[in-house]
Amino acid sequence: MWNFPTPLPDELIYSTIARAGLHHGIQSPKQLLEEVFQDRKVVATVDLPSHLNAIVHLLQRTGRFSLIDLIYKHTMFGLYAPFVQESHRLKAITLMTEQASGSVHLMFGLNASRVPNKNKFHYCPICIQQQRETYGEYFWNRAWFVPNLPICLKHNCSLLSQDYIQQQHRHLFLPLLPNHTQDLPEPYFKEDFILGQMSVELLQLDPQPSPSHEQWTKFYLEIADAKNCRRGSQVRHEQTYEQVINKFKYVYLNSKNLGINPDQDTSWLKTIFRKHRKAFSFLEHCIVWSSFIPEMTPKDILQYVSSISANQYFVKRPTSTDNIPLVKIEEMRQKWQDIVLLHGVTSGRKIKSGQATYIWLYRNDQNWLLTFNSKHLSKPQVRKNKVNWPIRDFSITKELFKILYRSNDDLACPRMSKSWFLNQLSKGNSISKNLHQLPLSSKFLSTYSENTIAYQIRRITHAMIRLGYTESSTKDRWRILRLAGLSKERITQEAQIFLNMICEKIYAY
Ligand SMILES: [Zn+2]
Repeated sequence: MWNFPTPLPDELIYSTIARAGLHHGIQSPKQLLEEVFQDRKVVATVDLPSHLNAIVHLLQRTGRFSLIDLIYKHTMFGLYAPFVQESHRLKAITLMTEQASGSVHLMFGLNASRVPNKNKFHYCPICIQQQRETYGEYFWNRAWFVPNLPICLKHNCSLLSQDYIQQQHRHLFLPLLPNHTQDLPEPYFKEDFILGQMSVELLQLDPQPSPSHEQWTKFYLEIADAKNCRRGSQVRHEQTYEQVINKFKYVYLNSKNLGINPDQDTSWLKTIFRKHRKAFSFLEHCIVWSSFIPEMTPKDILQYVSSISANQYFVKRPTSTDNIPLVKIEEMRQKWQDIVLLHGVTSGRKIKSGQATYIWLYRNDQNWLLTFNSKHLSKPQVRKNKVNWPIRDFSITKELFKILYRSNDDLACPRMSKSWFLNQLSKGNSISKNLHQLPLSSKFLSTYSENTIAYQIRRITHAMIRLGYTESSTKDRWRILRLAGLSKERITQEAQIFLNMICEKIYAY
C-alpha cells in the first residue's frame, strides 16, 4: 500500500490501519488486509496486535517507526510488560512481529485475568474536537482503552462508548466516526482517576527489562515492612487489607472485579504479598502502590524494583543503616530536606538531584524518609500564607463552571452534589476547608449543586433514553424505575410526579 498513514501521537496501530482503509476508500475488510498485510487471515486486534513487521515496512519511508516504537508507543503493551517475566516480554515482542494467534494475550494472562478485557470502543468527546482541529481527522487514542477505566484524564470526564455491533467481523478495523446522538457516557468513580493516572504513566514508560518474580516478591515485603504490616517474616494481612480499604472503598474494588475478602486465603491482595509465582494485573499493582506509597510514581517504582538484588536474601530494610557512615546519612537527609523546603515532596522527586536523593534514602533510610515525607506532603508553609484568596476564588469558580458545562449533558454522571464538584477540582480537599474565604465559589456551589430530587429526575430521564422510549411509546414504569436504580420507597414525591407525567397517568395526591 502506498501512503500508509503515519501513526499520530498515542494512536493505536489498530486505528492507523482503520484510517488507511478510510483514506483509500477501501470498504471490504478482507481487501484492506490484503493491501496492508498481504494476508487475508489477520485478526483485527485493538490492544496487542500482531503482524507488526508489515507495518514497520510500510512506515520505513518515514524513518521514524521501529518495531519497538510501534509496540511501546502505539499499543497497550506497556500496561502488561512490566509485570510478566523478562523472557515472556521478549517472547511477546517476537510474536507481535508476525502471526501471534492470541498467544501474546495468553502469555500476559489476559484471557484468564480477573480484570475483564474491555470489549467496547470508547472516546473522549473533548479530545476528538481537538483531534479534528489539529489533525483534521479522528483516531482511537490508546489512553481511552485502559481496561476498566472509562475516563479521560486530560479533561477529567467520562468517555462515551460506542456500543454498536462491535467486532461483528473479526477482520474489521473500525475507524473512529463519532455519533453524538447515540454514544452514551460510561459511569465512573472518582477513584478511577487515581488508577487512570498510574496506568497512563505505565503506558508512557520507556522500553525496559521486566523485574523478576523474586524482585516483585521482595518489593512487596519491603513496602509491607515500611507500613508496619509485618511481624517477623509474616505479613499481617489484616493490616494490608486496612491500608487498601482506607484508600479504595469495598464497593469500588468490587465494581472492578477486584474485591478483597479478608477471610479468603486466595484473595489477590494476600497473594501479592506472598511469593510471586505468576503475574498480577496492572490494576492490582496500582491499587497497592497508591495505597502504600502514593508519593512514588510508576517510573520510580519500576526503577527501584529493578535495582533490588535478586540473589540477596531479604534484609529487613528500616534497620539497615548500620553499615553506612552517619555523616553520609546526615548529608543525604539534609539534601532532601533542602529540596523539599524548596519544591515540596512531589515536585522535589521530579527534579534530577531530587530523584537520586530520594531513591538513596528510600533504600538506606526508609523509616526516616517516609516519616519526614508524611509531614511535608503539602506545599511549604511560606507559600501557603501568600494565597491571594480573591484570585483563587475567581479561578476556582471558572474551573467549577467548566466542570458544570462538561458534565451538564452527561446523564450518567453521579449526583453533582457540593462534594462531587469539590472532588472534581485538583485541590478539592483544601478548598472545602476554606470556603469561607471563597464567596464566589460558595455561591456557585449553593446554586448549582444537584439535590436528590433533581438527581432522581435525571436518572429517570436517562433510563427513558436508554430504553429507547419516545414521546409516543408505551412506557413501562417498573422498567424505568429499575434501570434508574429507584424504588417506590426511595423515590421523592417530586420525582414521582415527574414519572407519572411521562407515563401519562397523572395521579392526584
Ligand atoms: Zn479528553
